[in-house]
Amino acid sequence: MKKITSILSLVLIAVLAMSLFTGCGDKKKVIVMGTNAEFEPFEYMQGGKVVGFDVEIAKKVAEKLGAELIIENMQFASLITSLETKKIDFIAAGMTNNEERAKQVNFSMDYFTASQVIIVNKESDSVNSKADLEGKKIGVQLGTTGETEAKSVEGAEVKSYDTGYAAVLDLANGKIDAVVIDQEPAEKFVSKNDKIQILDEELTKEAYAIAVNKEDEELLATINEVIKEIQENGEYDKIYEQFFGKEEKEEE
Ligand code: GLN
Repeated sequence: MKKITSILSLVLIAVLAMSLFTGCGDKKKVIVMGTNAEFEPFEYMQGGKVVGFDVEIAKKVAEKLGAELIIENMQFASLITSLETKKIDFIAAGMTNNEERAKQVNFSMDYFTASQVIIVNKESDSVNSKADLEGKKIGVQLGTTGETEAKSVEGAEVKSYDTGYAAVLDLANGKIDAVVIDQEPAEKFVSKNDKIQILDEELTKEAYAIAVNKEDEELLATINEVIKEIQENGEYDKIYEQFFGKEEKEEE
């Protein structure tokens, strides 16, 4: 009996010590980024890890907060709901800052100027300009501004895919007439598939920003601070060069 009591008290001491240990601020803060790693060079898979331009910016935010960065990879169309339900702390996903979304989330300052472009199959003559999109089959990624843009085209049949890659595959196989998608990922797709090309005419001008939950004013302020800081101290340019391999483009 005596032995049992002493074992019990040992266990008790151990449990107490453990709870003290974890209670004593040894828990590292985490910050969760939500993204869709199908958007090279902003976020894509490499060696089983999510990497990219947006990931580098998110790392700076985590650094500033002294937090560990966790990345949740999900459907692009699920990101805003995940933010609203606090499954994630912020969205960094080449997400275009627009009024419609700003009803649901708060956007940081813009950190990248982007545009929607048209990708076509080189062997087909059906689409040579924006005007030619009328009445055509257009592939887009579900829930994107590319989808909104394509749906505004008169008589177009819009096919929404889970990924831009799937849309591009159907284009290369002649199943659709065009893909409307952001310029930088479009360039990546084209560089890996010689059956397709990008038309010169841009469809939109837009800007990417980081989205945070409407209630999270403090995080929003920190993210803005970080974006400003890295733009001023040259770290933004370094990240740019890392993923675009050239100096930041001048406006054409
Ligand atoms: N910029 C586009 C949007 O915000 C596409 C983003 C993406 O597919 N990751 O809808």
